[in-house]
Amino acid sequence: MGRIIAVANQKGGVGKTTTAVNLAAALALEQRRTLLIDMDSQGSASSGVGIYQAQAPTIYEVLLGQHRLIDALRHTDIAELDAVPANRNLAGAEVELVSVDGREGRLRAAVGEAAGGEAWEFMVIDCPPSLGMLTLNALAAATSVLVPLQCEFYALEGLSALVDTVDRVRARFNPTLELEGILLTMFDARTSLARQVAAEVRSHFRDQVFDSVVPRNVRLGESPSHGVPVLLYDPGSKGADAYRLLARELLEKLECKRRSGVVGAGGS
Ligand code: ADP
Ligand code: MG
Repeated sequence: MGRIIAVANQKGGVGKTTTAVNLAAALALEQRRTLLIDMDSQGSASSGVGIYQAQAPTIYEVLLGQHRLIDALRHTDIAELDAVPANRNLAGAEVELVSVDGREGRLRAAVGEAAGGEAWEFMVIDCPPSLGMLTLNALAAATSVLVPLQCEFYALEGLSALVDTVDRVRARFNPTLELEGILLTMFDARTSLARQVAAEVRSHFRDQVFDSVVPRNVRLGESPSHGVPVLLYDPGSKGADAYRLLARELLEKLECKRRSGVVGAGGS
């Protein structure tokens, strides 16, 4: 099985969904078979790849054990990209899962079961804006967590709660969970605040911050309403460039790790 990247930050509007959709698309366009998993009841990652008001089975039925992950699979406009969508029912799962055995491990189990048949090199999980049961499921299933940070004054606020949650998930369910990296999003080089925040984040987190930075770009804001990743909507835009570079940076880092034997070649 390949690498499973949870895109998480309990703050809303920091670029999680935009990153999940466009990173998944960029990896797929690099010919890496990728599965996008929507774990937000808003279903924005689903509509971002053209799946509107998804009918069952969705990730909801998968988490409740009523369907397998591969039953909930949809193809997208990008050949190497599949998606498991979410709809509003998922909001109920936060509560419904509370009484279920191994409730934090539902996605991990579903993903593990799918690993034998369909071979995705990457899974990208779009998390909701909370640290509830759905984000715990995503972190328990993941090999790594990618944290988008918006370049604004309160960027670092709440980060310690996220780090605590990651530590808790490591201790209880997923000891090998890694930090894939921190991604600076919605960066506007014209404002000194954005530059200051970016510098502060880099001095604090150093090589854990991706070199790639996602600029504020209107195309990134527009593409979701057309139901396609920005890489198809406007491949020449700065937004598309940023996510292509991010995918390449991530692939390069993984290649380095593989060479130095930190992660197994081709996954296990
Ligand atoms: P989250 O999933 O963290 O709530 P989103 O990815 O949905 O955040 O982004 C919030 C809003 O900002 C959306 O309307 C999205 O289209 C827009 N957006 C995200 N990233 C950018 C960007 N780099 N430039 C311009 N708009 C963006
Ligand atoms: Mg979102």
